Amino acid sequence: MEAYRNLDLQKRTKGDVRLERTITRSEVGKLRLKGKPKCPACGNPLSFVYEGSTGFSSVKCKRCNRESLINTETLEAILIEKAG
Ligand SMILES: [Zn+2]
Repeated sequence: MEAYRNLDLQKRTKGDVRLERTITRSEVGKLRLKGKPKCPACGNPLSFVYEGSTGFSSVKCKRCNRESLINTETLEAILIEKAG
């Protein structure tokens, strides 16, 4: 969790334009990667999960379009059935 406190998540300004809350690639790089859960259907990595994550997240695979539920604590990905 410590990593989050070091991140600069302030709103940035570029000229007169006020940007939405942003984070740079290098700031994301400061986070410790916990793992990359893979799509149970095709093996494609679904998302990057960083340390401090808890709970569930649903992600649609960019390769096969199937949707999975990711347990961000165990990094397990389970396919969500289309019906029901
Ligand atoms: Zn897939």
